[in-house]
Amino acid sequence: MKIVVQKFGGTSVSTEERRQKVIEKVKIAIKEGYRPVVIVSAMGRKGAPYATDTLLSLVDDKFKNSNKLAQDLLMCCGEFISAVVISNDLYNAGIDAVPLTGGQAGIITNNNFTDAKCIDTNPKKIIDLVSQGRVPVVAGFQGVAENGYLTTLGRGGSDTSASILGVALQAETIEIYTDVDGIMTADPRLVEDATLIDVISYNEVFQLADQGASVIHPRAVELAMKANIPLLIKNTMSNCRGTLINNFGDRENERIITGITHQKNRIQVLIKASENEGNTKYKDILDLVAANKISLDLINIFPDRQIFTIDAKAKQILENILNSFKLKYYLVEDCSTIAVIGSRMNGRPGVMAKIIKALINNNIEVLQTADSNMTIWCLIHADNVKEAINVLHKTFNLA
Ligand code: ADP
Ligand code: MG
Repeated sequence: MKIVVQKFGGTSVSTEERRQKVIEKVKIAIKEGYRPVVIVSAMGRKGAPYATDTLLSLVDDKFKNSNKLAQDLLMCCGEFISAVVISNDLYNAGIDAVPLTGGQAGIITNNNFTDAKCIDTNPKKIIDLVSQGRVPVVAGFQGVAENGYLTTLGRGGSDTSASILGVALQAETIEIYTDVDGIMTADPRLVEDATLIDVISYNEVFQLADQGASVIHPRAVELAMKANIPLLIKNTMSNCRGTLINNFGDRENERIITGITHQKNRIQVLIKASENEGNTKYKDILDLVAANKISLDLINIFPDRQIFTIDAKAKQILENILNSFKLKYYLVEDCSTIAVIGSRMNGRPGVMAKIIKALINNNIEVLQTADSNMTIWCLIHADNVKEAINVLHKTFNLA
Protein backbone atom coordinates (compact mmCIF):
# COMPACT_ATOMS: atom_id res chain seq x y z
CA MET A 1 0.00 0.00 0.00
CA LYS A 2 1.59 3.26 -1.16
CA ILE A 3 0.57 5.93 1.33
CA VAL A 4 1.03 9.65 0.74
CA VAL A 5 0.38 12.20 3.46
CA GLN A 6 -1.03 15.45 2.08
CA LYS A 7 -1.12 18.42 4.45
CA PHE A 8 -3.02 21.57 3.51
CA GLY A 9 -2.32 24.84 5.34
CA GLY A 10 -4.75 27.51 6.49
CA THR A 11 -4.83 29.51 3.27
CA SER A 12 -5.26 26.37 1.17
CA VAL A 13 -8.54 25.48 2.88
CA SER A 14 -9.83 29.04 3.38
CA THR A 15 -12.23 29.43 0.43
CA GLU A 16 -14.47 27.22 -1.68
CA GLU A 17 -12.30 27.88 -4.73
CA ARG A 18 -9.12 26.87 -2.90
CA ARG A 19 -10.77 23.81 -1.40
CA GLN A 20 -11.58 22.67 -4.93
CA LYS A 21 -7.84 22.75 -5.64
CA VAL A 22 -7.31 20.66 -2.51
CA ILE A 23 -9.78 18.09 -3.82
CA GLU A 24 -7.91 18.04 -7.15
CA LYS A 25 -4.61 17.26 -5.38
CA VAL A 26 -6.22 14.38 -3.51
CA LYS A 27 -7.77 13.06 -6.72
CA ILE A 28 -4.41 13.19 -8.51
CA ALA A 29 -2.78 11.19 -5.70
CA ILE A 30 -5.51 8.54 -5.94
CA LYS A 31 -5.16 8.43 -9.73
CA GLU A 32 -1.43 7.87 -9.36
CA GLY A 33 -2.10 4.81 -7.22
CA TYR A 34 -1.51 6.37 -3.78
CA ARG A 35 -3.67 6.03 -0.71
CA PRO A 36 -3.87 9.61 0.58
CA VAL A 37 -4.06 10.58 4.24
CA VAL A 38 -5.09 14.23 4.42
CA ILE A 39 -4.12 16.63 7.25
CA VAL A 40 -5.74 20.05 7.47
CA SER A 41 -5.12 23.30 9.31
CA ALA A 42 -7.87 25.65 10.50
CA MET A 43 -9.48 27.69 7.73
CA GLY A 44 -7.88 31.04 6.97
CA ARG A 45 -5.55 33.37 8.79
CA LYS A 46 -6.17 35.89 11.57
CA GLY A 47 -9.62 37.48 11.27
CA ALA A 48 -11.23 34.54 9.46
CA PRO A 49 -14.16 33.19 11.52
CA TYR A 50 -12.67 29.79 12.40
CA ALA A 51 -8.96 30.68 12.35
CA THR A 52 -7.11 29.79 15.56
CA ASP A 53 -6.45 33.44 16.47
CA THR A 54 -10.13 34.27 16.09
CA LEU A 55 -11.14 31.38 18.35
CA LEU A 56 -8.57 32.49 20.92
CA SER A 57 -10.06 35.98 20.96
CA LEU A 58 -13.37 34.52 22.23
CA VAL A 59 -12.05 34.09 25.76
CA ASP A 60 -10.18 36.29 28.22
CA ASP A 61 -6.38 36.27 28.39
CA LYS A 62 -6.42 35.68 32.13
CA PHE A 63 -8.64 32.62 31.76
CA LYS A 64 -6.57 31.27 28.85
CA ASN A 65 -3.30 31.69 30.67
CA SER A 66 -4.48 30.02 33.82
CA ASN A 67 -6.38 27.26 32.07
CA LYS A 68 -4.21 25.84 29.30
CA LEU A 69 -6.41 22.76 29.12
CA ALA A 70 -9.37 24.91 28.05
CA GLN A 71 -7.15 26.91 25.70
CA ASP A 72 -6.09 23.74 23.92
CA LEU A 73 -9.64 22.47 23.62
CA LEU A 74 -10.62 25.79 22.03
CA MET A 75 -7.63 25.79 19.72
CA CYS A 76 -8.46 22.29 18.43
CA CYS A 77 -11.88 23.46 17.16
CA GLY A 78 -10.65 25.25 14.02
CA GLU A 79 -9.10 22.05 12.71
CA PHE A 80 -12.19 19.98 13.60
CA ILE A 81 -14.32 22.25 11.43
CA SER A 82 -11.80 22.19 8.62
CA ALA A 83 -11.56 18.36 8.64
CA VAL A 84 -15.35 18.04 8.37
CA VAL A 85 -15.65 20.69 5.64
CA ILE A 86 -12.89 19.10 3.53
CA SER A 87 -14.50 15.68 4.04
CA ASN A 88 -17.75 17.17 2.77
CA ASP A 89 -16.00 18.53 -0.33
CA LEU A 90 -14.32 15.17 -0.95
CA TYR A 91 -17.67 13.41 -0.49
CA ASN A 92 -19.20 15.70 -3.13
CA ALA A 93 -16.38 14.68 -5.45
CA GLY A 94 -17.23 11.00 -4.94
CA ILE A 95 -14.46 10.27 -2.44
CA ASP A 96 -15.33 8.44 0.77
CA ALA A 97 -13.65 10.69 3.32
CA VAL A 98 -13.65 10.25 7.10
CA PRO A 99 -12.88 13.24 9.34
CA LEU A 100 -10.82 12.46 12.45
CA THR A 101 -9.42 14.41 15.37
CA GLY A 102 -5.66 14.15 15.93
CA GLY A 103 -6.34 11.85 18.88
CA GLN A 104 -8.59 9.57 16.83
CA ALA A 105 -5.83 9.45 14.22
CA GLY A 106 -3.54 8.07 16.93
CA ILE A 107 -1.34 11.04 17.85
CA ILE A 108 -0.57 10.61 21.55
CA THR A 109 1.23 13.42 23.34
CA ASN A 110 2.54 14.44 26.73
CA ASN A 111 0.32 16.90 28.61
CA ASN A 112 2.38 19.99 27.99
CA PHE A 113 -0.66 21.97 26.86
CA THR A 114 -0.24 24.43 23.94
CA ASP A 115 3.15 22.95 23.04
CA ALA A 116 2.73 19.22 23.48
CA LYS A 117 5.18 16.66 22.11
CA CYS A 118 4.14 13.45 20.46
CA ILE A 119 5.25 10.54 22.64
CA ASP A 120 3.54 7.67 20.81
CA THR A 121 1.41 6.91 17.79
CA ASN A 122 -1.32 4.39 17.17
CA PRO A 123 -2.24 4.62 13.50
CA LYS A 124 -4.48 1.52 13.51
CA LYS A 125 -7.69 3.43 12.73
CA ILE A 126 -6.06 5.21 9.79
CA ILE A 127 -4.59 1.99 8.43
CA ASP A 128 -8.03 0.32 8.64
CA LEU A 129 -9.71 3.22 6.82
CA VAL A 130 -7.03 3.43 4.15
CA SER A 131 -7.18 -0.35 3.58
CA GLN A 132 -10.91 0.03 2.93
CA GLY A 133 -10.13 2.63 0.25
CA ARG A 134 -11.40 5.50 2.38
CA VAL A 135 -9.59 8.81 2.86
CA PRO A 136 -8.93 9.92 6.45
CA VAL A 137 -9.01 13.69 6.87
CA VAL A 138 -7.16 14.45 10.08
CA ALA A 139 -7.44 17.66 12.09
CA GLY A 140 -3.86 18.94 12.23
CA PHE A 141 -1.97 20.66 15.06
CA GLN A 142 -3.34 18.40 17.80
CA GLY A 143 -3.17 15.14 19.67
CA VAL A 144 -4.51 13.58 22.83
CA ALA A 145 -2.67 13.14 26.11
CA GLU A 146 -2.62 9.72 27.77
CA ASN A 147 -5.16 10.99 30.32
CA GLY A 148 -7.59 11.84 27.52
CA TYR A 149 -7.23 15.63 27.41
CA LEU A 150 -6.85 17.21 23.99
CA THR A 151 -3.54 18.96 23.35
CA THR A 152 -2.04 21.13 20.63
CA LEU A 153 1.44 20.82 19.17
CA GLY A 154 2.52 24.48 19.08
CA ARG A 155 2.19 27.01 16.27
CA GLY A 156 2.79 25.53 12.79
CA GLY A 157 1.86 22.20 14.38
CA SER A 158 -0.11 20.86 11.41
CA ASP A 159 3.21 20.35 9.61
CA THR A 160 4.29 18.32 12.63
CA SER A 161 1.05 16.28 12.48
CA ALA A 162 1.86 15.47 8.85
CA SER A 163 5.34 14.22 9.72
CA ILE A 164 4.15 12.29 12.79
CA LEU A 165 1.59 10.40 10.71
CA GLY A 166 3.89 10.12 7.69
CA VAL A 167 6.46 8.38 9.89
CA ALA A 168 3.91 6.20 11.70
CA LEU A 169 2.40 5.07 8.38
CA GLN A 170 5.78 4.78 6.63
CA ALA A 171 4.44 7.01 3.88
CA GLU A 172 6.27 7.19 0.55
CA THR A 173 6.16 11.00 0.71
CA ILE A 174 4.86 13.75 2.97
CA GLU A 175 3.43 16.56 0.85
CA ILE A 176 3.02 19.98 2.46
CA TYR A 177 0.71 22.20 0.41
CA THR A 178 0.86 25.94 1.05
CA ASP A 179 0.43 29.33 -0.64
CA VAL A 180 3.88 29.58 -2.27
CA ASP A 181 5.53 27.38 -4.91
CA GLY A 182 7.90 25.73 -2.43
CA ILE A 183 10.94 26.69 -0.41
CA MET A 184 12.41 29.83 -1.89
CA THR A 185 15.81 31.46 -1.49
CA ALA A 186 14.08 34.01 0.79
CA ASP A 187 10.54 34.83 1.91
CA PRO A 188 8.86 36.00 -1.32
CA ARG A 189 6.91 38.54 0.74
CA LEU A 190 10.20 40.30 1.45
CA VAL A 191 12.27 39.56 -1.64
CA GLU A 192 10.48 40.01 -4.95
CA ASP A 193 12.98 38.04 -6.99
CA ALA A 194 13.34 35.12 -4.56
CA THR A 195 13.67 31.88 -6.54
CA LEU A 196 12.34 28.39 -6.01
CA ILE A 197 14.74 25.82 -4.58
CA ASP A 198 14.25 22.51 -6.43
CA VAL A 199 15.98 20.20 -3.97
CA ILE A 200 17.29 20.96 -0.50
CA SER A 201 18.68 18.84 2.32
CA TYR A 202 16.80 18.23 5.57
CA ASN A 203 19.63 19.93 7.43
CA GLU A 204 19.50 23.14 5.44
CA VAL A 205 15.74 23.39 5.53
CA PHE A 206 15.79 22.67 9.26
CA GLN A 207 18.11 25.65 9.71
CA LEU A 208 15.88 27.85 7.55
CA ALA A 209 12.75 26.78 9.45
CA ASP A 210 14.39 27.03 12.84
CA GLN A 211 15.66 30.52 12.06
CA GLY A 212 12.31 31.94 11.07
CA ALA A 213 11.16 30.70 7.63
CA SER A 214 7.54 29.87 8.44
CA VAL A 215 7.05 27.78 5.29
CA ILE A 216 7.58 24.57 7.29
CA HIS A 217 7.89 23.77 10.98
CA PRO A 218 11.38 22.64 12.08
CA ARG A 219 9.97 19.75 14.12
CA ALA A 220 8.28 18.38 10.99
CA VAL A 221 11.62 18.43 9.19
CA GLU A 222 13.39 16.72 12.08
CA LEU A 223 10.86 13.87 12.24
CA ALA A 224 10.88 13.23 8.49
CA MET A 225 14.69 13.33 8.49
CA LYS A 226 14.98 10.70 11.23
CA ALA A 227 12.74 8.33 9.27
CA ASN A 228 14.27 9.39 5.93
CA ILE A 229 10.88 10.13 4.37
CA PRO A 230 11.03 12.72 1.58
CA LEU A 231 9.10 15.94 2.15
CA LEU A 232 7.63 17.78 -0.80
CA ILE A 233 6.55 21.42 -0.40
CA LYS A 234 4.03 22.48 -3.04
CA ASN A 235 1.57 25.19 -3.95
CA THR A 236 -2.10 24.22 -3.63
CA MET A 237 -3.04 26.78 -6.25
CA SER A 238 -0.54 25.85 -8.97
CA ASN A 239 0.94 22.81 -10.63
CA CYS A 240 4.50 23.88 -9.87
CA ARG A 241 6.82 20.93 -9.13
CA GLY A 242 7.66 22.34 -5.67
CA THR A 243 10.67 21.66 -3.47
CA LEU A 244 11.92 18.20 -2.61
CA ILE A 245 13.57 17.83 0.80
CA ASN A 246 15.82 14.81 1.26
CA ASN A 247 19.15 13.77 2.76
CA PHE A 248 21.38 14.97 -0.03
CA GLY A 249 20.02 18.32 -1.13
CA ASP A 250 20.97 19.59 -4.55
CA ARG A 251 24.25 17.89 -5.46
CA GLU A 252 24.53 19.75 -8.78
CA ASN A 253 24.14 23.19 -7.25
CA GLU A 254 27.36 25.01 -6.46
CA ARG A 255 25.91 28.02 -4.71
CA ILE A 256 27.58 28.66 -1.38
CA ILE A 257 24.40 30.13 0.05
CA THR A 258 21.08 28.29 -0.18
CA GLY A 259 18.74 30.72 1.52
CA ILE A 260 18.30 33.69 3.84
CA THR A 261 15.78 34.12 6.61
CA HIS A 262 15.27 36.12 9.79
CA GLN A 263 13.90 35.99 13.30
CA LYS A 264 11.92 38.93 14.59
CA ASN A 265 11.52 40.34 18.10
CA ARG A 266 15.06 39.92 19.36
CA ILE A 267 16.59 42.00 22.12
CA GLN A 268 20.34 42.43 22.58
CA VAL A 269 21.51 42.46 26.20
CA LEU A 270 24.85 44.03 27.17
CA ILE A 271 26.32 43.75 30.66
CA LYS A 272 29.64 45.47 31.38
CA ALA A 273 32.15 44.12 33.91
CA SER A 274 33.30 47.64 34.90
CA GLU A 275 29.77 48.65 35.91
CA ASN A 276 29.21 45.51 37.98
CA GLU A 277 32.50 45.39 39.91
CA GLY A 278 32.12 43.61 43.22
CA ASN A 279 28.83 42.00 42.17
CA THR A 280 29.46 38.28 42.66
CA LYS A 281 26.51 37.40 40.42
CA TYR A 282 28.20 38.94 37.33
CA LYS A 283 30.02 35.73 36.47
CA ASP A 284 26.87 33.62 36.93
CA ILE A 285 24.56 35.61 34.67
CA LEU A 286 24.27 32.95 31.97
CA ASP A 287 23.45 30.29 34.58
CA LEU A 288 20.83 32.52 36.20
CA VAL A 289 19.21 33.16 32.87
CA ALA A 290 19.27 29.49 31.89
CA ALA A 291 17.80 28.47 35.25
CA ASN A 292 14.80 30.65 34.40
CA LYS A 293 14.38 28.85 31.07
CA ILE A 294 15.20 31.92 29.00
CA SER A 295 16.77 30.81 25.77
CA LEU A 296 19.85 32.75 24.69
CA ASP A 297 21.44 33.27 21.30
CA LEU A 298 24.51 34.98 19.93
CA ILE A 299 26.38 34.69 23.21
CA ASN A 300 29.71 36.58 23.32
CA ILE A 301 31.71 36.65 26.52
CA PHE A 302 34.63 39.12 26.60
CA PRO A 303 36.87 40.01 29.55
CA ASP A 304 35.11 43.37 29.91
CA ARG A 305 31.53 42.50 28.92
CA GLN A 306 28.90 39.85 28.19
CA ILE A 307 26.51 40.15 25.26
CA PHE A 308 23.64 37.92 24.24
CA THR A 309 20.20 38.08 22.65
CA ILE A 310 16.81 36.96 23.92
CA ASP A 311 13.30 36.83 22.53
CA ALA A 312 11.26 39.93 23.34
CA LYS A 313 8.77 37.72 25.21
CA ALA A 314 11.45 36.98 27.81
CA LYS A 315 12.25 40.65 28.47
CA GLN A 316 10.25 41.02 31.66
CA ILE A 317 11.62 37.89 33.31
CA LEU A 318 15.17 38.82 32.35
CA GLU A 319 14.83 42.32 33.74
CA ASN A 320 13.36 40.92 36.97
CA ILE A 321 16.36 38.63 37.38
CA LEU A 322 19.00 41.25 36.59
CA ASN A 323 17.31 43.85 38.80
CA SER A 324 16.89 41.45 41.69
CA PHE A 325 20.67 40.94 41.74
CA LYS A 326 21.33 44.65 41.23
CA LEU A 327 23.15 44.02 37.96
CA LYS A 328 23.51 46.98 35.58
CA TYR A 329 22.65 46.25 31.95
CA TYR A 330 21.68 47.76 28.60
CA LEU A 331 19.03 46.55 26.18
CA VAL A 332 18.84 47.17 22.45
CA GLU A 333 15.22 46.42 21.56
CA ASP A 334 13.51 45.88 18.19
CA CYS A 335 16.25 43.78 16.68
CA SER A 336 16.13 40.93 14.17
CA THR A 337 18.59 38.16 13.50
CA ILE A 338 19.34 37.53 9.84
CA ALA A 339 20.43 33.94 9.15
CA VAL A 340 22.38 33.19 5.97
CA ILE A 341 22.29 29.45 5.38
CA GLY A 342 24.18 27.09 3.09
CA SER A 343 25.84 23.72 3.62
CA ARG A 344 28.61 24.58 1.15
CA MET A 345 29.91 27.55 3.17
CA ASN A 346 31.69 25.11 5.47
CA GLY A 347 35.43 25.57 5.05
CA ARG A 348 35.08 28.47 2.60
CA PRO A 349 36.83 31.53 3.91
CA GLY A 350 35.48 35.03 3.44
CA VAL A 351 31.72 34.45 3.60
CA MET A 352 31.28 36.36 6.85
CA ALA A 353 33.49 39.19 5.55
CA LYS A 354 31.41 39.39 2.37
CA ILE A 355 28.17 39.60 4.37
CA ILE A 356 29.41 42.31 6.71
CA LYS A 357 30.91 44.34 3.87
CA ALA A 358 27.64 44.20 1.90
CA LEU A 359 25.61 45.32 4.92
CA ILE A 360 27.99 48.11 5.92
CA ASN A 361 28.18 49.38 2.33
CA ASN A 362 24.42 49.78 2.50
CA ASN A 363 24.56 51.64 5.82
CA ILE A 364 23.08 48.72 7.75
CA GLU A 365 24.50 48.58 11.24
CA VAL A 366 25.61 45.09 12.33
CA LEU A 367 25.17 44.76 16.10
CA GLN A 368 26.56 41.27 16.51
CA THR A 369 27.51 38.19 14.48
CA ALA A 370 27.99 34.47 14.97
CA ASP A 371 28.63 31.48 12.74
CA SER A 372 28.44 27.71 12.60
CA ASN A 373 29.30 25.28 9.82
CA MET A 374 26.10 26.00 7.90
CA THR A 375 24.80 29.35 9.13
CA ILE A 376 25.98 32.92 9.65
CA TRP A 377 23.89 35.14 11.89
CA CYS A 378 23.86 38.95 11.97
CA LEU A 379 21.89 40.93 14.51
CA ILE A 380 20.53 44.16 13.03
CA HIS A 381 17.86 46.74 13.80
CA ALA A 382 14.43 45.40 12.77
CA ASP A 383 13.67 48.30 10.44
CA ASN A 384 16.63 47.24 8.26
CA VAL A 385 15.46 43.66 7.76
CA LYS A 386 13.89 43.92 4.33
CA GLU A 387 16.78 45.89 2.91
CA ALA A 388 19.40 43.61 4.50
CA ILE A 389 17.83 40.44 3.13
CA ASN A 390 17.53 41.98 -0.33
CA VAL A 391 21.14 43.18 -0.24
CA LEU A 392 22.44 39.74 0.78
CA HIS A 393 20.18 37.99 -1.73
CA LYS A 394 21.80 40.09 -4.44
CA THR A 395 25.33 39.76 -3.03
CA PHE A 396 25.13 35.96 -3.26
CA ASN A 397 23.34 35.96 -6.65
CA LEU A 398 20.34 34.06 -5.39
CA ALA A 399 17.86 35.57 -7.87
P1 ADP B 1 0.47 27.47 5.75
O1 ADP B 1 -0.72 28.16 6.29
O2 ADP B 1 0.22 26.82 4.42
O3 ADP B 1 1.12 26.53 6.73
P2 ADP B 1 2.55 29.41 6.28
O4 ADP B 1 2.11 30.83 6.32
O5 ADP B 1 2.80 28.72 7.55
O6 ADP B 1 1.49 28.61 5.38
O7 ADP B 1 3.86 29.30 5.38
C1 ADP B 1 3.87 29.83 4.07
C2 ADP B 1 4.53 31.19 4.09
O8 ADP B 1 5.90 31.06 4.46
C3 ADP B 1 4.60 31.86 2.73
O9 ADP B 1 3.42 32.58 2.45
C4 ADP B 1 5.84 32.76 2.84
O10 ADP B 1 5.52 34.11 3.02
C5 ADP B 1 6.54 32.26 4.10
N1 ADP B 1 7.98 32.01 3.89
C6 ADP B 1 8.98 32.45 4.72
N2 ADP B 1 10.18 32.08 4.27
C7 ADP B 1 9.97 31.39 3.13
C8 ADP B 1 10.84 30.75 2.20
N3 ADP B 1 12.18 30.74 2.35
N4 ADP B 1 10.28 30.13 1.14
C9 ADP B 1 8.94 30.12 0.98
N5 ADP B 1 8.07 30.71 1.81
C10 ADP B 1 8.56 31.35 2.88
MG1 MG C 1 2.54 26.76 8.28
